[in-house]
Amino acid sequence: MKQISVLGSTGSIGRQTLDVIASHPEEMALFGIAANCHIEALIAQAEAYRPRVVACETEFDAGLLPEGVTLLSGTGAAEQLAAMQEADVVVNGISGFAALSPLVASLKAGKRVALANKESIVCGKRLIDRMLSDYKGEILPVDSEQSAIFQCLQNGRKDEIDKLILTASGGPFWRKHRADLEGITPKQALAHPTWNMGKKITIDSATLFNKGLEVIEAAYLFDLSAEKIEVVIHPQSIVHSMVSYIDGTTMANMSKPDMRLPIQYAITYPERIQSSCTPLLLQQEHPLSFHQPDPGRFLSLKMAYDALKAGLSYPLVYNGANEAAVEAFCSGHIGFLDIERVVNYTLNQHTPKALDALEEIIDADRQARAQANQMIDRVTQERRNRH
Ligand code: MG
Repeated sequence: MKQISVLGSTGSIGRQTLDVIASHPEEMALFGIAANCHIEALIAQAEAYRPRVVACETEFDAGLLPEGVTLLSGTGAAEQLAAMQEADVVVNGISGFAALSPLVASLKAGKRVALANKESIVCGKRLIDRMLSDYKGEILPVDSEQSAIFQCLQNGRKDEIDKLILTASGGPFWRKHRADLEGITPKQALAHPTWNMGKKITIDSATLFNKGLEVIEAAYLFDLSAEKIEVVIHPQSIVHSMVSYIDGTTMANMSKPDMRLPIQYAITYPERIQSSCTPLLLQQEHPLSFHQPDPGRFLSLKMAYDALKAGLSYPLVYNGANEAAVEAFCSGHIGFLDIERVVNYTLNQHTPKALDALEEIIDADRQARAQANQMIDRVTQERRNRH
C-alpha cells in the first residue's frame, strides 16, 4: 500500500491524482493534500477523500475540516507536507515556479516525486541534481511527453539514443498565420483542442512556450543536449512522444490523452496496474498526422533552444518572463504575441549567472519577473495610447 501526498490538489493534475488514488484502494492511500488558492475546494476534498493531513499557506479554521484531519497552515505548509515521513510518494502538481521549493523539500526527505511541474526543473536544475545525489530521492515524470520518453527509454541505453522527439498538439493556433495571432484573446487561447488543463499551461500550449519548457525539461531530466531533442506537431495527442535509436528504430508511447495514465505510472513504476483509462483502438481514431513546426510562426521554441544552449540562468529567465507575461495577457494588459516579445526582451537584458542555492534561484526568478514587468508596463502603455 503506497501512502501518497498530493501538492496542488485542487488543480487539474491534483484532482486527477485523487481520482487515480480512489480507483486503486488496494494499492494506494491518500496521506495528505495541499493547495493554496481554492480553500473551499480543498475543504470539500478533505470531506470526500479523507486524507490524514491538509496543508494550506492561507490560514483558515481547522474546525472546517472533518474530525481527525490535521491542518498545517502558514508559510511553508506545502513544504512541510512534502517532507513528511509517512508518505511514500509526493505528487507535485503545483503550477509554475512555486512548485520548486516543495519539490526540494520532498527530495531532501528522500521521497519519490511524481512531478507534473516543468518550471521547477527548468529553473532549479543544478540544485535538483544535487538533492537527487545527496538524499537518494527520485523524480518520476508525469508531464505526458516526459513520461512517454521515460517509458520509451527503457528499450535502450543512453549511448544508443539518436534523438528524443517531443510531440506537441500545437494548441489551437498552429495553422494560423503570424499576422492573425496578434489579436488572439485570452478566451480563444484558453480553448485547447485536446487537453483540458489549468490556465497557465493552456496559454503555454497556445504560444508553444509549453513545448519550449518541455525541450529544456527533457534535456535536464534525461541529461541530453539540445541537438538531441526535436519537436513535431501531432494534433491528435495520441503519440505522447518518441525516442529514436541509432539503429533506426523509433519507439513511440501511445494512449488516449488522459493524464491519469502518466500519474498512475509515476506512482506504481516499475509496476503497471489496471486503470480506468479507455484503451486505445487506433482503427477508431482519426488518422494520426505529424507536421514540422514552422519556426517563423512561434519564436517561443527558438528562444527555448537558445536558452538551453546558453545555459546558466537563461532557462530560468525564459520561464520567469513567460510566467509574468502570461499573467499580464490573461488580465488583458498585453496581447498574445507580446508574450514572446516580453520574454525575448528579458532574455536579451539578462546577465547570466550560475544558480545553486534555493534562495539564489528564488531571487533570480524575482529579478527576471521585475525585468519582464518593465517591458509589460511599456507594452501596456503603448496599447493604451493606441486605443
Ligand atoms: Mg506536456
